[in-house]
Amino acid sequence: MPRINVLPKNIADLIAAGEVVERPSSVIKEFLENSIDAGSKNITVEIKNGGKTYIRVTDNGCGIEKEDVKKAFLSHATSKINSAEDLDNIGTLGFRGEALASVAAVSKVELLTRTENEEVGTSYKIFGGEEVELTEAGCPVGTTLIVRDLFYNIPARMKFLKKDVQEGNYIASILENIAVSYPQISFKFIRDGKLNFSTPGDGDLKSAIYAVFGREYTEGLLPVQYEANGITVTGFTGKPTAGKGSRSGQHFFVNGRYVKSPMCITALETAYKNSIMVGKFPPCVIFINLPFSAVDVNVHPAKTEVRFFEEKKIFDAVYQGALNALTYDTRPKAAFSVAKAFMPEAVKGEQLKLTETPEKVESESRTAVATEEKKEFKYEIKSSLVKESLTTPKPETVKPSKISSKLTLNSNEEKSIDFLETEYVKPTEKKLNISIINTVPSSADELSKPEEKILIKETKESDVVKEDATPSVDFRIIGEAFKTYIFVELEDKMLMIDKHAAHERILFEKFKAQNISYQQMLLVPVTVSLSPDEYNAVLENTELLYKAGYEVSDFGDRCIKVNACPTELIGEDISTLITEIAGYLASNVRTIMPEKLDWIYHSMACRAAIKAGNTTTDLEIERFVKELLSRDDIRYCPHGRPVIVEVTKRELEKQFKRIV
Ligand code: ADP
Ligand code: MG
Repeated sequence: MPRINVLPKNIADLIAAGEVVERPSSVIKEFLENSIDAGSKNITVEIKNGGKTYIRVTDNGCGIEKEDVKKAFLSHATSKINSAEDLDNIGTLGFRGEALASVAAVSKVELLTRTENEEVGTSYKIFGGEEVELTEAGCPVGTTLIVRDLFYNIPARMKFLKKDVQEGNYIASILENIAVSYPQISFKFIRDGKLNFSTPGDGDLKSAIYAVFGREYTEGLLPVQYEANGITVTGFTGKPTAGKGSRSGQHFFVNGRYVKSPMCITALETAYKNSIMVGKFPPCVIFINLPFSAVDVNVHPAKTEVRFFEEKKIFDAVYQGALNALTYDTRPKAAFSVAKAFMPEAVKGEQLKLTETPEKVESESRTAVATEEKKEFKYEIKSSLVKESLTTPKPETVKPSKISSKLTLNSNEEKSIDFLETEYVKPTEKKLNISIINTVPSSADELSKPEEKILIKETKESDVVKEDATPSVDFRIIGEAFKTYIFVELEDKMLMIDKHAAHERILFEKFKAQNISYQQMLLVPVTVSLSPDEYNAVLENTELLYKAGYEVSDFGDRCIKVNACPTELIGEDISTLITEIAGYLASNVRTIMPEKLDWIYHSMACRAAIKAGNTTTDLEIERFVKELLSRDDIRYCPHGRPVIVEVTKRELEKQFKRIV
């Protein structure tokens, strides 16, 4: 480590001012950063009473030379920067040269340190900023800092500290974030005499995450690896089924530093749109690396806030990184934490003994931090940031080519499952296809006498030639339970499919993939009376509605006329649907276009999908399962509920105690 210089006043002033020591966790953060900057491989943190009475940080880093020891405790004394230019290229965690001085001013500090080149180490005691003792001492290479009785000389500050548990939790949270961002360093955390966690320091991020956040958290993760525009995004992000009740499981790091960034949260959560349940938040441990000059770390003294110079690029990188990761997701597994055996009446009373017990839950110490993280989250999505990302076409977009010529007006009729006819459109010569459609009367008095017309429409051959090009999957349908769940045997697994959720998702994807949804003219146009707001909102969005398959026009007197609706919705109560959409449009005036469309597609898919409880024929089930299993992108319904849950043969054998 270079020698220590006292910063000239002008540089000191350049550095954002601020309180360094606010609570015990600020001491820990500063000390840990110093230990990391010193190149340590092992770092132990021990605290008592939430760090209020005792903090010890021991490392095996480079140590401080005897003649630099006193200097290290002077304000603005640092070995990490020399000049103002260095501020633009900060590669170390600390750089303000304030920590040791500030901590020593408000507590009783003992330092024990030795460098490699020294035979004997140094012991230094400084209480309330006053030197107490400087002596030689025998110790290993590295540094130990002990802080006792924080704020003993400013009782007013002490009053602002929370209870020991809470302060201890703040420390745990800081240590957790640092431990996962340095998997090559082994961290030990001892809290009131008990080992809280210890990371192996083997350089493997997943093993560090496991050691810190536990098994359940780690098992719900998918790897992230993305690079664009000189920005790399790595780490892990949660499977949609591993969504948590708060954002406390989200950890972002910029150039190795833990940051709180509403923009990153929004980018991450945008990637989970339509695949995570409402009210659930994806956990993540995501590292964003970018040139040091592209980020300003000098924004806030606590250094958890950052300012990016090119927000849009970072947003895109996080969003795309998470989106790519989600393609590695597998089907959710059926959870058999407590095995329940079916018992025929005859053997009731003769209790079966089952050995399986639920997995251990997470440690109690995190609860307070979690509550803290639940605080209000505010980040206004800049439409320019999201818009482009949302409209970026997905690589596997499927183009359906089916034109439906069904015209069913009987709303009691049960809906049959509709399929994407083919994903493999053959480019062939054009053909003329003749279909009969009902045209719409142009004025109100014509409403009563709809006329039929023959319309000649130009279509591609692929529109009319039906082709069964779905890749073959070897499966066997076992049956359907409760008119809701379809059971399928596939290789060594049994799949349980929620038919409504699956169909809803298939339709949703289909609507999204079409540039304009296919419309069916209504035999009798529907007029809908709306509130002034809704009425205006609909008329302002006629183009959007047209894209979604609705043709609407002004009918005057706060009424609109629906002339055509998406083919899939024939037979549904159009008036209710339009009122629902109008209500949404009126209260989401400022929502961006792709989001509005998504919402409308949701509502369409939900209505058009086969309902749980409806009868489905064997043939329909077979075609449906075939379609579903050939589509790897169908995993969750648009509300984030899983579509397929699988049980392996092995799992079943375990349940029946054939194997252990
Ligand atoms: P900064 O980290 O901003 O430079 P600090 O007040 O935290 O300022 O530390 C002052 C100096 O003390 C550091 O620049 C470093 O040279 C030295 N130092 C502090 N802690 C350690 C440590 N654990 N190992 C080696 N050197 C340290
Ligand atoms: Mg420091």
